[in-house]
Amino acid sequence: MGDNSGNSIDLDENSFLSEKCDTNDHSDDHLSSLLLLNALPQQVWTADETGAITYVNKMICHDFGFNQETIIAHGWQSFVHPEDLPESISRWQEALHSGKDYTTEFRLRFADGHYYWHLARAVGIKRDGKPNIWVGTNTNIHDQKNNEQRKDEFISIASHELKTPLTTIKGYNQLMLRQVSEGKIKALLERSAGQVDRLEKLIKDLLDVSKINAGKLLFNYESFDFSEMLHQTIAGMQAIFPSHLIKLETDIQLAYNGDRYRLEQVLQNFLSNAIKYSPGADTVNVTASLADGNIIVSVKDDGIGIAAENLGKLFERYYRADNSSSRFDGLGLGLFISAEIIKRHSGSFWIDSEPGKGSTFSFKLPVDPQLQIEAEIRTESYYKDRYIRIYCPKESEIMHVEWTGYQDMRSVKHGGSLMIDYLRKNSRSKVFNDNRLVPGTWSEASDWAAEVWLPLMELAGLRFFAWILSPSAFSQLSARKSVDNKNKSAEISFFNSAEEGMDWLEKQAL
Ligand code: ADP
Repeated sequence: MGDNSGNSIDLDENSFLSEKCDTNDHSDDHLSSLLLLNALPQQVWTADETGAITYVNKMICHDFGFNQETIIAHGWQSFVHPEDLPESISRWQEALHSGKDYTTEFRLRFADGHYYWHLARAVGIKRDGKPNIWVGTNTNIHDQKNNEQRKDEFISIASHELKTPLTTIKGYNQLMLRQVSEGKIKALLERSAGQVDRLEKLIKDLLDVSKINAGKLLFNYESFDFSEMLHQTIAGMQAIFPSHLIKLETDIQLAYNGDRYRLEQVLQNFLSNAIKYSPGADTVNVTASLADGNIIVSVKDDGIGIAAENLGKLFERYYRADNSSSRFDGLGLGLFISAEIIKRHSGSFWIDSEPGKGSTFSFKLPVDPQLQIEAEIRTESYYKDRYIRIYCPKESEIMHVEWTGYQDMRSVKHGGSLMIDYLRKNSRSKVFNDNRLVPGTWSEASDWAAEVWLPLMELAGLRFFAWILSPSAFSQLSARKSVDNKNKSAEISFFNSAEEGMDWLEKQAL
């Protein structure tokens, strides 16, 4: 199944590139190719397999104000803004390592001494399955970047300005409500207060998003009673939304160290969504529990549900599923903000949902984010901790891996690294990767797995990988994303049944 197609370029059709852009080669083909690249009104460059620049076109020389030799001798890094350099270097290294396309945004210093935002992209041209030449472009996105920044600044200023008169209106509303007795006016005032609250929430969300974009969403960590926070938030939401009964089915008692206000915000968002997207129902169930040193909170509704193909996009900014955008109002910001808050508490989130039947939104927070993962058993061929079990039975070609419980970035990286070690030390090339005991965690480690872990597994000897899926659709998305590397050479297949997975693995000939 080695997928070597993708965006890769066939060397034979671009033979001038395989000569590493030797400007002394005057063959007709070569010259016309160089003329073509030089005529492009865009920065074009090539690099070798080590990442060193081998060619830059005329546009680059013009923009930077140096000739080709000087730019190649100094390297591209000397023209990148120092603040953007670490990220660009790490992405470039990742691309060189994995063979995957390179994309980054950075500011480049031009001959006029100013920096301009560019979008850099490069693809590796393969020979024998490995890229040995990279062809890249830098597109000027300065105006677009500035416009985005201006838009964020405008949103930030506008929401600040809107907040002040709104707070005053809210105050007057409360004063009036206190002074009128039961009756028609009071009912009208209550409805008006409800709308003011909605407006206030929209403005707060806009403000938070502009802060997240500017990296300025501040957190105030302190120890608080988690159960009291749950009760208070639920009581507050129940008062605003009498249409549904919010039931706290299970509770936990513990002092948790985090930003109470921000976590209330996550819960409020999950609860208001559960109510908003279940117009035909009358209850919302909340559970809180402790598992493997994690607090797990779930909010379940009997509402419209979400189609599996939309699950992965819900936590993006401004995303709204098709079945809700026209029927329910909202800006599509709440989950984006919630995701950021949970991430900043080293937690993760996931969704179980079925269209027409309802959804359960869950988040998990580690009680002690610094807690080490301890091995319970560790021998040459057997390893076990609370997240993973790896064993390599004698006289078998297969390494068995069993993941258990709620995973996160840290546990996946830890377990994934052990898999590489055990695979190599036990000279195995087939892996039976069992995820049946993993609940619906959206692991943020998927990108790491695809870009770093999978190539290292292949280097350690991986040829065939049977992935037995977790029953959760959200976890399945994360599984597929973890092996989404078009340069992979191992064969990876997904199964719902362990027996089918094992059958497939045993049939593969090495
Ligand atoms: P908003 O509700 O303002 O659109 P959110 O970011 O809170 O923004 O939610 C994003 C999208 O996720 C919603 O537009 C909706 O499509 C979907 N969604 C969120 N919660 C639920 C739910 N409980 N049931 C069904 N769909 C939901």
